[in-house]
Amino acid sequence: MDSKAHRQDRPWSGSTVQHEVELLPEYVPDCYLCPGNTRVSGRSNDQYTQTFVFDNDHPGFSLAAPDDLLSPTGIYKNRPARGVARVVCYSPKHNLTLGELEPEAIESLLRVWQEQYLELGSRPEIAHVLIFENKGEAVGVSNPHPHCQIYANNFVFKTIENEARVSRRHFSETGRVLFQDIIAAEEKDERRIIAANDSAIAFLPYFARYAYEVFVAPRATHQSIATLSNAEVRDFAAVLKRVLVKFDNLWQMPFPYVMPLHQAPTDGGDYGAFHFHVEFHPPLRKPNLLKYLAGPEIGGGNFLSDTSPQEKAAELRAQPAVHYKLRQENK
Ligand SMILES: [Zn+2]
Ligand SMILES: [Zn+2]
Repeated sequence: MDSKAHRQDRPWSGSTVQHEVELLPEYVPDCYLCPGNTRVSGRSNDQYTQTFVFDNDHPGFSLAAPDDLLSPTGIYKNRPARGVARVVCYSPKHNLTLGELEPEAIESLLRVWQEQYLELGSRPEIAHVLIFENKGEAVGVSNPHPHCQIYANNFVFKTIENEARVSRRHFSETGRVLFQDIIAAEEKDERRIIAANDSAIAFLPYFARYAYEVFVAPRATHQSIATLSNAEVRDFAAVLKRVLVKFDNLWQMPFPYVMPLHQAPTDGGDYGAFHFHVEFHPPLRKPNLLKYLAGPEIGGGNFLSDTSPQEKAAELRAQPAVHYKLRQENK
């Protein structure tokens, strides 16, 4: 429906985009994420064949952060931010994106996320494990090698704290899990559902802040990815892949986004009503048009959406299930 309008707005031709994509090799000698390469720290990457996890060489924090912070004056307080920062490479291939991985490779990645959440979350000094991928130059990432990061910290990030609080309040007021009510509302409306199967669902929520914001979640309530069964991991990977392929197909380019996993804190609190989900925050409204955070968002603290979630969901729903690069190869 809207695809014609988009095509007219395009600043470049599809063939130019394809050309740029094909220029990327599978292996880049000076990429700090490619197998076998030496990183700036002097450490070398394994000759990995699937996923590869390593401690970030330049973390913004560490478990050895100093205790003796200077006390600020007046009303201000501080405490040391400690934690572990890791990098997870999705694939040895430099030129793939998450959506181009085989379903089995995405399932292995989900199992790595399960292990990391369990291992890091079990440490007494870790209160929360934030797993996230920043993808594309639009969000400041110049290296296209597919990877995500993990920040496991002695504090809980604000958005998670808010989600945990409202989930707990909703449960005490209604006896229901808030995210289950959200899924039920989306399924009842149906127009914003992007992909779904037996145990997983993806939708562009009614309350989306970004034009192409999409949530992916298991249908059953799990506090984290760690407790998903093998069948749920398989279903989740399938829905995730369908969303990612649609994103890339939208403008026939690697689709930039920030993708956090929202999981319950690991600080021993009560998180029975917390429902694990993945959120996509794509910054682009059109191929060359960023959603700028300005007066209302930064100045006022509320997102003003310039688009209708139903229309944007319809654009994604209309995208084919086969990745555009594969379709071009088959021509
Ligand atoms: Zn690489
Ligand atoms: Zn969330």
